[in-house]
Amino acid sequence: MRMGLEDRVALVTGGSSGIGLATVTLLLEEGARVVTCGRDAERLQSALAPLAEQYGDRLVWATGDVLSDADMVRLVDLATGRFGGIDLLVNNAGRSLLAPFADTTDRQWTDELELKFFGVLRPLRAAQPWLSSSAVGAVVNLNAVLARQPEGRLMATSAARAGLLNLSKSLAGELAPDGIRVNSVCVGLIDTGQWRRRHEDALATGRTAQDYEDWTGDLARDRGIVLGRLGRADEVAAAVVFLLSPRSSYVTGTQIDVAGGVSRYV
Ligand code: NDP
Repeated sequence: MRMGLEDRVALVTGGSSGIGLATVTLLLEEGARVVTCGRDAERLQSALAPLAEQYGDRLVWATGDVLSDADMVRLVDLATGRFGGIDLLVNNAGRSLLAPFADTTDRQWTDELELKFFGVLRPLRAAQPWLSSSAVGAVVNLNAVLARQPEGRLMATSAARAGLLNLSKSLAGELAPDGIRVNSVCVGLIDTGQWRRRHEDALATGRTAQDYEDWTGDLARDRGIVLGRLGRADEVAAAVVFLLSPRSSYVTGTQIDVAGGVSRYV
């Protein structure tokens, strides 16, 4: 099914890995033009060069930290200089902090809150004038089911995620008169670099001797994922791209869970 995104310009933060990379790939498959960033130049190059070979000048990237106003302005300038505008923004860059209350320092609280809020606000501020002048402006914020179903072992991340979901709702109201829709995709456990790194850490510290498949299989069972497995990044990208597309033209201020049924709320 074509999603009606041909020639639209999308800015995706954190496109060198996982969900961001899958979103960039799907947008390119749908005929969009894409600008993306990450902090590590080599990671960007090795992840995106194969896509650039396939899709040519419809893909550009630059190093940039979502927490830097200057980097986000530079990224927006790159997008508008190359493609003449920005229609769509995906706030994907981020990570989570695995720590209960007792082990979370003030610095970690501050960092987590800063990343979850300003990692969205800074790219949005830089792109907002262009989104406003687009006929199909849309923003998708990557979030987690933790926003509504907090976990003690991810205390600061859960709280920050709840704040971001709340913020996304407010932004949907404020930006609607400018024709910009704002929605969230709330993920559960998705098989990306984050989980590969945690597995490597568990192996290195002797907390597991299992291979990645067995380890994630047990994880899915322990966490009560009713579909019995971790999700794939492309399964998240499909929801992101739907919410960016005109196929969801009457959808704003809400969220889609892509979580294999892990959430217990209704
Ligand atoms: P990955 O670690 O696979 O990829 C993260 C991407 O974001 C990389 O491209 C990374 O590149 C980039 N990035 C990280 N921090 C910054 C920054 N400050 N500025 C710019 N780029 C940055 O993550 P996932 O694909 O798993 O996660 C994507 C989003 O989904 C995140 O917001 C994450 O918190 C959320 N999520 C994922 C879950 C999962 O199970 N995978 C669960 C819950 C939420 P670089 O490091 O080079 O900057």
